[in-house]
Amino acid sequence: MTNQSPERPSVAFNLDLIGKYDVSGPRYTSYPTAPCFIEPFAADEMIAEVARVQLETPHRPVSLYVHIPFCDTVCFYCACNKLVTKDRTQAAVYLELLFREIALVGRWISGERPVKQLHLGGGTPTFLSLEEMASLFQQLRRHFNLFSDDTGEYGIEIDPREVPPGAIDRLRGMGFNRISFGVQDTDPRVQRAVNRIQPMELNRRVVAEARSAGFHSINLDLIYGLPLQTSASFGASLTEVLDELDPDRLAIFNYAHLPHYFTPQRRIHSEQLPSAAEKLAIMEMTIQTLLQRGYVYIGMDHFAKPDNELALAQKAGMLHRNFQGYTTHADCDLLGLGVSSISQVGEVFAQNHKTWETYRDAVNRGHSPIFRGLRRSRDDQIRNAVINRLICRFALDFADIETRFGVVFADYFREELQALQPLVADGLLSFTDGGLEVMPVGKLMIRNICMVFDWHLTHGSIQKSFSKTL
Ligand code: SF4
Repeated sequence: MTNQSPERPSVAFNLDLIGKYDVSGPRYTSYPTAPCFIEPFAADEMIAEVARVQLETPHRPVSLYVHIPFCDTVCFYCACNKLVTKDRTQAAVYLELLFREIALVGRWISGERPVKQLHLGGGTPTFLSLEEMASLFQQLRRHFNLFSDDTGEYGIEIDPREVPPGAIDRLRGMGFNRISFGVQDTDPRVQRAVNRIQPMELNRRVVAEARSAGFHSINLDLIYGLPLQTSASFGASLTEVLDELDPDRLAIFNYAHLPHYFTPQRRIHSEQLPSAAEKLAIMEMTIQTLLQRGYVYIGMDHFAKPDNELALAQKAGMLHRNFQGYTTHADCDLLGLGVSSISQVGEVFAQNHKTWETYRDAVNRGHSPIFRGLRRSRDDQIRNAVINRLICRFALDFADIETRFGVVFADYFREELQALQPLVADGLLSFTDGGLEVMPVGKLMIRNICMVFDWHLTHGSIQKSFSKTL
């Protein structure tokens, strides 16, 4: 099963290979991955890197990520960093801290650097009232150089249960122009089993509001592998979503049941979960349906219409991957604001405290809430380039890496090229004249291919506590 158009990346499903390569592995939103970060990590290291980058490239754009950790009710499948509370006054307490962090980080960043991308995630960003949201936007505008026309890519994650009628229009008026809705599954039985009751009528209303407000791109999140799902039931949900909501993009995540790590998941009845075989059937049906409907496989659970910016960027070889997932902005430094968020500036990664208490204490003392991080070595930079190319382009040109880093690829990666041989024999990828190409059947196993180049993983410097690759 492949896409019809020869220029589009095609993807194929092979049950035997999927079974063989179903191991735990990173999702490579960064390389090295977050478990490699070192604690403690001084904020001064990040400040120095910001200064270095600004000296070299004074107009280098910025991407801001703001984390709003609150949720009104807990979804039993949740593995996010969130705080479940019905006390809405908590939002004001958090915003006060967040505004202090915004002012602090804003002082590091030159006003000449435009904010090309902004993303509000959570938790549930719309746990904030519209007035609180407006004042957050105002603070961001005050301390960073946000576009006042519509040229920035400014997105927000929305829980449809948390937006009153008319709110989406107000959010568009504040400057958001990309929107992502959590839908997960439209089957009421599944919704009850995961404690997320969300009638289809609500989904219809919010998507219609986003369309009429003029959002440029509408993304929907779905999850497969939830209790009571079957290939037939999830197929019906998917068809309903495609027919009635017609999203520009879809992220279809695989539910990983890890009740040891994530307390809410203990409330999921494991005997209701679909079997491994059923999950694979759901995955195959989903990919087949989306390709037949003309969506392009972007990679790692993501699909987009051919005219969507993500699909166009992939076609042009301009797709990039960072902590926000796939992005079209390779040229941005990423600044994470709020509890648990991660920044990436030049060659430095830094993460904020993950709990409300430690974040609050650091900000209250007037300190940066950064608690761990990492400066990439030269080897990390080379491997990052390789992994990023593979994951975004499904191809690698050795000369690209050689020119950029002054290495001889075959020498530098002698062991890795050897380690790839069994994957080549299985048909996941092939050697081309001066490079590598991931085959349609290998695209679903892209994490396994990247893992070969992950020095920290192969040399055991990190715990292998990742989700399954499929
Ligand atoms: S899945 Fe989303 S909305 Fe549900 S509890 Fe987790 S963060 Fe909150």
